[in-house]
Amino acid sequence: NEKDVFKVENSKVIVAVRVRPFSNREKNENLLPVISMSGSETAVQNPATNQVYSFSYDFSFWSFDKCHPNFASQAMIYKTLAVPLLERAFEGYNTCLFAYGQTGSGKSYTMMGFDEDRGIIPRLCEDLFTQIAQMDKQQVTLYHLEMSFFEVYNEKIHDLLVFKAESGQKKQPLRVREHPVLGPYVEGLTVLVSHPDLYLLQSWLELGNKQRATAATVMNDKSSRSHSVFTLVMTQTKVKLVDEEQCDHRLTSRINLIDLAGSECCSTAQTTGERLKEGVSINKSLLTLGKVISALSKQSQNGKKTFIPYRESVLTWLLKESLGGNSQTAMIATVSPAASSTEETLSTLRYAKQAC
Ligand code: ADP
Repeated sequence: NEKDVFKVENSKVIVAVRVRPFSNREKNENLLPVISMSGSETAVQNPATNQVYSFSYDFSFWSFDKCHPNFASQAMIYKTLAVPLLERAFEGYNTCLFAYGQTGSGKSYTMMGFDEDRGIIPRLCEDLFTQIAQMDKQQVTLYHLEMSFFEVYNEKIHDLLVFKAESGQKKQPLRVREHPVLGPYVEGLTVLVSHPDLYLLQSWLELGNKQRATAATVMNDKSSRSHSVFTLVMTQTKVKLVDEEQCDHRLTSRINLIDLAGSECCSTAQTTGERLKEGVSINKSLLTLGKVISALSKQSQNGKKTFIPYRESVLTWLLKESLGGNSQTAMIATVSPAASSTEETLSTLRYAKQAC
């Protein structure tokens, strides 16, 4: 539908901010909250200067006071940010959702969560299957799902879905190639195919999470310095009768859910050697992502085609087909409420602001 395509081409990036509750350490230090929220506005008062900085987003979510009107549970965050993306995916569009913020601010909690407090990724997987099961009953569409899960660390790609038997070997980083029609892809990446089976998908997700955690322990909390990209590719085949002849209409959509590296890597002075190299590459991909999203956002506002620097980092290059064109992007910026994080919080809020 042309009207729909037009709508999505011009759809802006949806940006939300989420404040996490005080951690025990922050409570023990009697740190004061520096953030206040009103409607979709987020304001930070710098305790050193008393200066107030105000930013307006699509949503500002409060999460450390359940009585607060902006309080947002995991279910509420999912409903507000991810459900619209899932709807777009069923319509055939590519979607991306990023979690951006300082390490410890709640990115993994928001994206993955745990136990009863499930985050966006497990909720979306379950919802996807429920919807497919309901539609399958009508038997008009066939569904095919593929899943991949990888990390981008130092501009290199590491598969998170390599099974145990293979994991003893030293894993080589994977390369990005470009398909003339389908665009950039990761060569040799494990792509698991699920003929809709939620339990299988959940067990793969668990495997990926375990491998991420193992890599983090071995490499001194690598997870805060790598981006994790969880992708579902859904193909819907609708069978139609046209002039009494059967024809297949295929819609393929990619859902990318990305837990970004800690934003402090982008702003804090780095040390030397490996750390410096990591800092530079994390910096590069987060900065490039910021530039790409901001350029896309401007393009959607003024309708003028602009140059989008996808190629400047591995992450944006790989997500090229899911960021531009007929796609829908959302970002959730996570922040700590405490005064000790004021500088990082302000830098996160500024980063998020450039996207909307
Ligand atoms: P990050 O991924 O940004 O490094 P985490 O998601 O690991 O941060 O969050 C740090 C800690 O704060 C975890 O113990 C997590 O459970 C807790 N936390 C984060 N956000 C929330 C929230 N909105 N509500 C309750 N606990 C949270």
